Amino acid sequence: SLGIKRVAVLGAGTMGHGIAEVFAMAGFEVNLMDISDEILRNALNRIRDSLERLSRRGELRESVDLIMPRIHTTTKVADAVKDVDFLVEAVPENADLKKNIFREADQYAPPHAIFASNTSTIPITELSEATSRKEKFIGMHFMNPPPLMKLVEITRGRYTSDETVNITVQLTRILNKEPVVVNKDVPGFIVNRVLFRVMLEACREVVQEGIKIIDLDAMARNVLGLPMGPFELLDYIGLDTSLFIVKAMTERGFKAHSCPLLEELVSKGKLGVKSGEGFYKY
Ligand code: NAD
Repeated sequence: SLGIKRVAVLGAGTMGHGIAEVFAMAGFEVNLMDISDEILRNALNRIRDSLERLSRRGELRESVDLIMPRIHTTTKVADAVKDVDFLVEAVPENADLKKNIFREADQYAPPHAIFASNTSTIPITELSEATSRKEKFIGMHFMNPPPLMKLVEITRGRYTSDETVNITVQLTRILNKEPVVVNKDVPGFIVNRVLFRVMLEACREVVQEGIKIIDLDAMARNVLGLPMGPFELLDYIGLDTSLFIVKAMTERGFKAHSCPLLEELVSKGKLGVKSGEGFYKY
């Protein structure tokens, strides 16, 4: 056995609530932490709705009522981490905010606990340096939405030990996910670097060659075999989030075409599915 029974998930937003759900489904006790009781109540409601959907589709081994009590909520980092074996951080993509959370968690978590960050773009090495457990620090990048997406990118920082990688890989399999280990701490790891190059290349074809967005998405689905076209996926991720990821990777040396369409839509408040309009209307 891995010796992991209880985990903390810091941040209960888009990703954090889904990550907590995935751990609870796999039988772990979860301490879910965010900054307000209202956000936490909301997160529990979203988790229950999602579990009920999975249950109706016959995809749960246990009842929703057995899984839900495994999730314990708190607004205090110290309470969230004091008795855990593993921690996943999913607060907003801001390096200073993340470092502050990790610094605080480092003071209260048991020394053996492994710290993982769900960051999309911030170097794991840089985050690990905020703690006194750099060899027990790792990237664990879930895809949105965590309960449905199988892949988890596991990124080594400069100081991450082999044992930490092995435990995280095995834990990911216990969660019924597919671990992919990224041995180099490059901005955007692998998925976002490839994915955004595809999406930015698609954008260039539209802007420079006059290809229609709807046609490009149809080609991507029918010929490349992608589950969504590049513009559909951008709308789903959120255009503000997408722009933010591109900027963060670019600041750290990533090279790709820029997408003026993306900036134009974001400046008009068209953020994709979540705002009702992006490249498409919803
Ligand atoms: P989000 O804004 O939906 O959720 C972040 C949550 O963190 C919010 O509920 C917020 O209240 C909470 N928070 C803010 N300050 C906090 C603090 N001091 N302590 C505890 N909680 C705090 O963001 P998200 O989309 O869930 O992204 C979280 C992380 O996951 C980011 O690093 C992001 O890059 C990464 N990520 C996002 C996606 C995606 O598709 N959205 C995919 C993979 C990875």
